[in-house]
Amino acid sequence: MELSKTVNLAKELVCIKSVTPDDNGCQDLIAKILEPYGFSIRFISSNGTKNLLAFHGTGAPLTLFLGHTDVVPTGDETTWDYPPFSGKIITKDDGKHYLYGRGSSDMKGGDAAMICAMLEYIEQKPDHKGTIGLLLTSNEEGDAVGGTPYVVEFLKKENIIPDYCIIGECSCDEVFGDSIKNGRRGDLNATIVVNGIQGHAALEQHAKNAVFEASRFISAMLDNPIDNGTQFFPPTSFQVSNISAGTGADNVIPGVCTLRCNFRWNDLQTPEKIEKHVREVAKSCGIDCTMDFREEGKPFLTKEGLLIDALKASIIEVTGITPSLGTSGGTSDGRFIRHLGTQTVEFGPVSNLIHKVNEMVCTEDLDSLTRIYVKTLEKLMK
Ligand SMILES: [Zn+2]
Repeated sequence: MELSKTVNLAKELVCIKSVTPDDNGCQDLIAKILEPYGFSIRFISSNGTKNLLAFHGTGAPLTLFLGHTDVVPTGDETTWDYPPFSGKIITKDDGKHYLYGRGSSDMKGGDAAMICAMLEYIEQKPDHKGTIGLLLTSNEEGDAVGGTPYVVEFLKKENIIPDYCIIGECSCDEVFGDSIKNGRRGDLNATIVVNGIQGHAALEQHAKNAVFEASRFISAMLDNPIDNGTQFFPPTSFQVSNISAGTGADNVIPGVCTLRCNFRWNDLQTPEKIEKHVREVAKSCGIDCTMDFREEGKPFLTKEGLLIDALKASIIEVTGITPSLGTSGGTSDGRFIRHLGTQTVEFGPVSNLIHKVNEMVCTEDLDSLTRIYVKTLEKLMK
């Protein structure tokens, strides 16, 4: 089977084992492809993280494509149907072709579509208006240290502020074309230590079970939602990711129960507001506890504007589907770019297989994605 340029590049990238934060040569391969087209290319590396920043053209508008070359670990490779870095093309029962392997959908398929779209657009319009840019990091799946936030500081210093940022992360929910992410919720962790009174299991009148105290608090949190969401954001969520208590003996009532909690928050909230809510709930059920909150990421939102209009119209032209706008899903590096004031959206393949065993991406969707990006550039770079 003859592969398109996009699928071919995606396959080459999947065959490079680049487990976060090791780029392992992906960005060198991409730089070699961009160079003949006259891109100015910089590698900005820090703390074992590699970043590629490439620009073509001059002046405004500046449209930046944002992606990452790292992938999450495979887990036990023997549970995969094929080797996860083989880049095998398989045909499924639906008659469609899929590029198989770790990183195929998150997000080397998207990377390849962004790159091939830029090159196709430049071939069509070598003297295009404005600047087209590409930023790739090798530390998106890890802690982002030395990654996109580091390059954003560099961009600020150089006064390079993108007008538009398109991120080729998986954004679609059920079918390709059905969803653009125009924002993401923020991420907040809390450790809550609930105190009771330790005692003998048979002398419960002299003890206070910290697990029971914690469970009253959890029930109260579930009964008192933090908010009801907004037009673009779902409600702020409360999750318990871990509960630990116990002394190791079956006949002891635990005096301490530690909860690890996670909140995904919308733009009605701040970490301070959430903390206030949680403390009030704890107070209302009379539990004795200490709390420690840690912000992991702020929410971002891009409201309707030229970028969303251009992308939406291009998706309809290529797929016939009208995408919805939404903010569900995990955080992305879009949050770092959005804070430059840049209109920022994510649009890429269907997200149902990311980080899973037997990750794969539909090759027809990658070709459609490339066409959508080319059409979007045509509309933006006028
Ligand atoms: Zn990703």
